[in-house]
Amino acid sequence: MPIATVNPATGETLRTFDPLGPAEIEERVARAESAFRAYRGTDFASRAALLGAAADLLDKERDEIARVMTTEMGKTLTAARAEAAKCAKAMRWYAGRAEGLLADEHPDPADVKDSGAEAAYVRYRPLGVVLAVMPWNFPLWQVVRFAAPALMAGNTGLLKHASNVPQTALYLGDLFHRAGFPEGCFQTLLVGSGAVEDLLRDPRIAAATLTGSEGAGRSVAAVAGDEVKKTVLELGGSDPYIVMPSAAAELDRAVSTAVTARVQNNGQSCIAAKRFIVHEDVYEDFAGRFSRAMGALRVGDPLDESTDVGPIATEQGRADLEELVQDAVSQGAEALCGGRRPEALPAGWFYQPTVLAGVTPEMRIHREEAFGPVATLYRVPDLDSAVAVANDSPFGLSSNVWTRDEQEQARFVRDLEAGGVFFNGMTASHPALPFGGVKRSGYGRELSEHGIREFCNVTTVWFGGS
Ligand code: NAP
Repeated sequence: MPIATVNPATGETLRTFDPLGPAEIEERVARAESAFRAYRGTDFASRAALLGAAADLLDKERDEIARVMTTEMGKTLTAARAEAAKCAKAMRWYAGRAEGLLADEHPDPADVKDSGAEAAYVRYRPLGVVLAVMPWNFPLWQVVRFAAPALMAGNTGLLKHASNVPQTALYLGDLFHRAGFPEGCFQTLLVGSGAVEDLLRDPRIAAATLTGSEGAGRSVAAVAGDEVKKTVLELGGSDPYIVMPSAAAELDRAVSTAVTARVQNNGQSCIAAKRFIVHEDVYEDFAGRFSRAMGALRVGDPLDESTDVGPIATEQGRADLEELVQDAVSQGAEALCGGRRPEALPAGWFYQPTVLAGVTPEMRIHREEAFGPVATLYRVPDLDSAVAVANDSPFGLSSNVWTRDEQEQARFVRDLEAGGVFFNGMTASHPALPFGGVKRSGYGRELSEHGIREFCNVTTVWFGGS
């Protein structure tokens, strides 16, 4: 894929970039390693001051960088501004909490004595240079939720961002530099995915994190496994959104939340609800209201404040989505709304918000991730069937359930195969809550204390008695 900004709302190529050559990559890797040797010795307070300065810059430059994101990958300007604000918040959260999250741990004195020690404790030390391979869909947030904890822990970072968001990638490298982080602490590498294997095999790179598709995760994990290097993988998702009869009293909210959960980020979010599994007692009502609300969304220019849904980020992405819908319709699924491109928007890679009913396991969309504003609907007779349909997916990122029945809630918490179970609302990330999945959605966690410890060397320090 060329490294370029191509506006998805018009199809126009706005800027192209040459990838870094081997000598330039070498220079940056060497700089990252030598920066780590000095930076690991800094204290939490000075790291926090630097991250706080980055958050202040980001707040000040929010409108500018939001416009860049919208132009590069098509998210609405409103969503892009909110993303920048969320990044600044997460930076401040880690700046304020990292010291506590990584404080030395002191085991029970009886256990210390039992180990033969006079004293022992656990220290979280940084691992070194971490390579971050990142996707375009939340071009700031995906990077910041790695970088903020990694830098607070004393690691240094190298960013290989998606090839279609080069200006956002360069902005991030520049942001940390201008905030005052020492040279080499966080650098952007403008390289294609073909450069990743050599980077992973470089002994100066200690670990890697990848957010992206299953295929990309598989290749990065294979090489990192061969090199025995730690990885965190945040991959695709096809999250269920289950509606039980006890939600009948608040069906309006369940429907409006369902719409937001499906079309946020133009439908291109890993944690978007994608499969809507509805109990038969409320199915007709939910399906009618949901498809009417999806059909009424305004699709158009993402820079226009009144737009609900912008374009798909790439031409290939829209083609993939169209194929999934056509496959389902050709096997008997019914499009309750949408199902095609909007005729009024011939330029750009737009797709109408779509609701498909009558989806069966033979259809590709039943098992594959629909990365765009396309929802599938399932009618189920009871809780056991809802759980079975929800778990009948290779993915297990998060899940959403509408029920006020506590016994049902306990069953869903016990049985849903996912990294999150969100009741009476929709999945969203927050710095204090761990984020990540099971099954083919990946492994490891980001955010919270779990995220910051992923790239730490959990070190046992033990003192023998005299
Ligand atoms: P992608 O094509 O997998 O790209 C992600 C990153 O991986 C890009 O930087 C890409 O570089 C690189 N890459 C691609 N193939 C690679 C390979 N074989 N070896 C090494 N690097 C490789 O994914 P995307 O289309 O940008 O993002 C969409 C996917 O990300 C969806 O499946 C979505 O669910 C998932 N996602 C998951 C999370 C989560 O937290 N679980 C969050 C957001 C998105 P190039 O751009 O240069 O190809």
